[in-house]
Amino acid sequence: MMLRLYDTYMRSVREFEPLQPPAAGMYTCGPTVYDYAHIGNLRTYIFEDLLRRVLEFNGYNVKHVMNITDVGHLVSDADTGEDRMEKGSRRTGQSAWEIAELYAQEFKNDLLRLNIQEPHIWCRATDHIREQIDFVKCIEANGYTYRTSDGIYFDTSKLADYGHLGCLDIEGLRAGARVDVAEKRSPTDFALWKFSPPGEKRQMEWDSPWGVGFPGWHIECSAMAAKYLGPYFDIHCGGEDHITVHHPNEIAQTQACHGTRLANFWMHGYFLQIDRGRMGKSEGNFLRLQTLIDKGYDPLVWRFFCLGAHYRTKLNFNWEALDGAATGLNRLRTVTYEWGAPGELNQEYIDRFTEHINDDLNIPRALALAWELAKSELPGSVKKATMLAFDQVLGLDLAFRKPATEAVPDTVMALIEQREQARANKAWQEADALREQVRAAGYEIEDTSQGPRARAC
Ligand code: AMP
Ligand code: ZN
Repeated sequence: MMLRLYDTYMRSVREFEPLQPPAAGMYTCGPTVYDYAHIGNLRTYIFEDLLRRVLEFNGYNVKHVMNITDVGHLVSDADTGEDRMEKGSRRTGQSAWEIAELYAQEFKNDLLRLNIQEPHIWCRATDHIREQIDFVKCIEANGYTYRTSDGIYFDTSKLADYGHLGCLDIEGLRAGARVDVAEKRSPTDFALWKFSPPGEKRQMEWDSPWGVGFPGWHIECSAMAAKYLGPYFDIHCGGEDHITVHHPNEIAQTQACHGTRLANFWMHGYFLQIDRGRMGKSEGNFLRLQTLIDKGYDPLVWRFFCLGAHYRTKLNFNWEALDGAATGLNRLRTVTYEWGAPGELNQEYIDRFTEHINDDLNIPRALALAWELAKSELPGSVKKATMLAFDQVLGLDLAFRKPATEAVPDTVMALIEQREQARANKAWQEADALREQVRAAGYEIEDTSQGPRARAC
């Protein structure tokens, strides 16, 4: 059963064949760590995690690299405005280095809670300044750059097929360009190296052959991907917004230096929407994973919610649907738990599952098959083993999770109520003693922003 994937570059679903089997190199554009990730960003990382698990399910030996953007991503993707990190630093009163550390840790924590497998290699833009400078030198030596008063730019007119990935209408863009192109020769040209503003000392800046400054946003991915995976590897992915700017620029840079389009397959996860509009940090309408947890949802409910839609469709968020996902996940956990010890696999189900996941990651169909398995007449031990095999891809922790108990007994609820009273009266010892009583009854109290909740333990 061959694996078929949609490649944005070729605009078609085609067979995936690794360049150097059984190895499969995979690069995913990581977060810009100036703020928390939102659940839309996390949808993209869940899609990439599913992709990696499907590759592994097919027996490939995946090498997964993810970058952390901690410099160079300006407020506008068109190389204008402030650096997001320096802006984040002003917002929080911490240094750009401190917020990079803080939000990178928070991001890793979110991945862990969503059962997203850690990349084999994490790479930070600020740890690879030399590689980026070398890459720009290579592009310059091949004649693709020019200098303006604020930086070194890539001359996109020098590449005949610039923008192929995004189907960009280059002539239209040029004709419609307004004066805010500044000194750029074309609106699609982009910064490779930006100079620190005259008379200003940035928190993050380095020496370079062109002057003190910092790398443009796109060069980090080309330079680090080429360093860890080589200049032509298997799959590069990111969110759909990268189809028109960031990824065409990564390709252009790599063509100019190495003569390759960097990756064989280019894959993109579609956006999470809220109220039918994009969920985004700049739109101010975003929800964090922690917000869902504070409201009492298990973080894997978010993963389960995302499994319900194909990665190449937009997904709309609403609370009713999230509640539906919570019920669904708990039901799946309950049945799996009750089947007891795993026995033999059912090969027919495994084959059908493989067919769905190998059909450009048709996870919704694979999930429907999991329900079909659950309802089948097979022995519990066979269902258990087969479901746990599915879970290698689904990543719902079905082997380890007990289902949530239906209702917390009244006696425990009364103890929790008394503890709230004690806390309100600042009777801390009494409150602690009551927590112990709740524990003894087999429940843990979780204090959330919605008030205390009991969890079976
Ligand atoms: P950023 O931290 O802004 O660089 O974005 C991290 C990743 O999340 C990128 O791959 C984006 O394409 C992706 N992304 C941004 N907004 C959304 C959204 N609303 N839904 C899904 N993915 C998104
Ligand atoms: Zn990137």
